[in-house]
Amino acid sequence: MLSAAFNIVGFSWITSPAATELEVIVLDWVAKMLKLPSEFLSAALGGGVIQGTASEAILVVLLSARDRTLRKHGKKSLEKIVVYASDQTHSALKKACQIAGIFPENIRIVKADCSMNYAVTPGAVSEAISIDLSAGLIPFFICATVGTTSSSAVDPLHELGQIAQAHDMWFHIDAAYAGSACICPEYRKYLNGVEEADSFNMNAHKWFLTNFDCSLLWVKDRNYLIQALSTNPEFLKNKASQENSVIDFKDWQIPLGRRFRSLKLWMVLRLYGVENLQSYIRKHIQLAQHFEQLVISDPRFEVVTPRNFSLVCFCLVPPTCEVDNGHKLNYDLMDSANSSGKIFISHTVLSGKFVLRFVVGAPLTEEQHVDAAWKLLQDEATKLLGNVVQ
Ligand code: PLP
Repeated sequence: MLSAAFNIVGFSWITSPAATELEVIVLDWVAKMLKLPSEFLSAALGGGVIQGTASEAILVVLLSARDRTLRKHGKKSLEKIVVYASDQTHSALKKACQIAGIFPENIRIVKADCSMNYAVTPGAVSEAISIDLSAGLIPFFICATVGTTSSSAVDPLHELGQIAQAHDMWFHIDAAYAGSACICPEYRKYLNGVEEADSFNMNAHKWFLTNFDCSLLWVKDRNYLIQALSTNPEFLKNKASQENSVIDFKDWQIPLGRRFRSLKLWMVLRLYGVENLQSYIRKHIQLAQHFEQLVISDPRFEVVTPRNFSLVCFCLVPPTCEVDNGHKLNYDLMDSANSSGKIFISHTVLSGKFVLRFVVGAPLTEEQHVDAAWKLLQDEATKLLGNVVQ
């Protein structure tokens, strides 16, 4: 409410020094909570900025990487530059490529490995890069994910980062959902390898108690963002900007105008504090663990991939006579559970299998709600299995 009421349009430092400086401060705070390498802090060459969404964060780093590569190889090399990601990467990357003019045939979607719980293997990425290099193409961007949207898989950051470094490529890590968990020391391991990254994003509006929109992006070298995205029209010139003594966040994002979003994040950090935010995350993960145990205890169901955070991927095991690998059975279970109006679960498809997804992420969820959801799923499963000819 405060952020809306102040109605700040803080594109340059001069338009609201407080909005800009608070953003620098709170992004440094969260970077320290996540134990990001010091290069990502504002005191070094890097720094953090609040974008509207992860999609925008990915787009701005892709544009920066494209700009860096075209400066090195010449403008005409646009048709040769190639992006690498796994088939579990969020579609935001594909959209960013469409907007950034990356040739559709230059987007390498490497199949994630089901034996690695749907993380991509470094070998598969290396192989794709070698093939492209021998065809005279220019690999320039790798996007890894910590907490994929379908199954919360974690890509091998360190290895992918090394590959990116070896080929002078930009390495981005998208941790839109799971990044929040990494403020807990026991989950920080999922960010090991972030030292190799050029940029990292996490959505405070997903699992960090902050209202939409508030997507946090850090870069190791802010000059790449500024080179790619800055404009300097006469009507925006002012002493502070010209002296280069301040940050103008207009040069770190797509639009010119921007909201006072740092106030929302500042409020969350001051209101809860690090320990309360950590317990909030831990509680959700414990509730998800509890749900996972309930699934394991009923032989009619199975957990499809090991759970990393607060998402459980599971399914109702189809009777042997089912020809569609349980697709219809699980679709019907989801549909009947959601039609009850009592819970809402979503689905994905992994290795051709229809998978149900249960996630804990709401501030008021308690164990009794998880138990009630599970009971509902069990009852609906009993009805459905009763209808299936065994
Ligand atoms: N990346 C990941 C891993 C996500 O899970 C999501 C959303 O679910 C996104 C990106 C896109 O987020 P946004 O809506 O903030 O663009």
